Amino acid sequence: KRKIAVLTSGGDSAGMNAAVRAVVRAGIARGCDVFAVYEGYQGLVDGGNLIKKMSWNDVRGFLEVGGTSIGTARCMPFKQRPGRLQAAENLVNRGIDSIVVCGGDGSLTGADVFRSEWPGLLDELLANKRITEEQHNSHRYLTIVGLVGSIDNDMSSTDITIGAYTSLARICESVDSIASTAISHSRAFVVEVMGRHCGWLALMAAISTGADFVFLPEKPPSDDDWQTAMCDRLTRRRALGKRNTLVIVAEGALDKNLNPIKPEHIKDILADRMGLDTRVTTLGHVQRGGSPVAYDRYLATVQGVEAVEAVLHATPETPSPMIGMSQNKVTWRPLMKAVELTHAVATAIGNKDFDKATELRDSEFKL
Ligand code: ATP
Repeated sequence: KRKIAVLTSGGDSAGMNAAVRAVVRAGIARGCDVFAVYEGYQGLVDGGNLIKKMSWNDVRGFLEVGGTSIGTARCMPFKQRPGRLQAAENLVNRGIDSIVVCGGDGSLTGADVFRSEWPGLLDELLANKRITEEQHNSHRYLTIVGLVGSIDNDMSSTDITIGAYTSLARICESVDSIASTAISHSRAFVVEVMGRHCGWLALMAAISTGADFVFLPEKPPSDDDWQTAMCDRLTRRRALGKRNTLVIVAEGALDKNLNPIKPEHIKDILADRMGLDTRVTTLGHVQRGGSPVAYDRYLATVQGVEAVEAVLHATPETPSPMIGMSQNKVTWRPLMKAVELTHAVATAIGNKDFDKATELRDSEFKL
């Protein structure tokens, strides 16, 4: 009988609860025992009542609740081998052989590091008499499956991540509210949205709200004098009778020389050059989500079910899979290749090689 642990790690995103619910229920339906690990990797390291066997009813009502009800944390001890040794002992003592992790690239890297140290961690536990010979022999393999929970949609090898559409919906609602006051007072608003390396939220929000201008990390304005180009465009729109002006800026937006473009700077340009009454709004944690939109509930559910299938089909030879989405189909991709690709995209952006970043982002790996 497979014993699966499910945990959420890194920044919370809407739909993580739906993912936990799906893993618990699909696992039980497929004859497995499922454990929830509370507080991310901290729960694995600390053990005790932070690792709890789940029943069908324990996840009732999880679908519509935002964030993650089993908690998440940044866990420094898990980054060190002694912390992971402790985590291994806690898993073995409960007979757990598989972990489904829902988190960002850091969390998925941590999971794969843990697996790569298997069975070395077991050997060390046995040598230190922290587990028995029998426990050692019955835990030769550790299965890891990744689910991507991230509001930024910043993971390679998947079209979409759990939580991104909810954040986008919250941004659009907020911008709509701002637009009402902007139209009334004929004001300009500069709205900063999350996204340090990935402009998905900013771009999608700009399209969905009909923004006048958007600044992204991965596509800096091509014009050296982008300030004049922006003002010319906004002036033309105003001349056509538009009473509000909306500029969306991703947190990590850059100019051609890779200098940050900050909302306050844009505000000053609009005020000084165009004489617009301009306000800056930083949306902040409102974007983390709250109750998930239908798509995130659906995505997390089908991917959670698939994660259990991936556990049941895993072999010691196959790389840990990451459950993704491609062309509306649930996919399995090698977890570490997806993480490597994600880092390579960030590096290409850091090197100003935006074509390379796009090419890398579009490339795919198959198991
Ligand atoms: P977000 O996208 O919200 O930042 P994330 O999963 O990338 O999410 P991190 O803070 O990078 O968030 O990682 C979450 C946790 O995963 C860390 O606190 C740590 O416990 C574990 N972790 C990250 N990287 C590693 C690593 N290289 N080795 C072991 N554990 C790691």
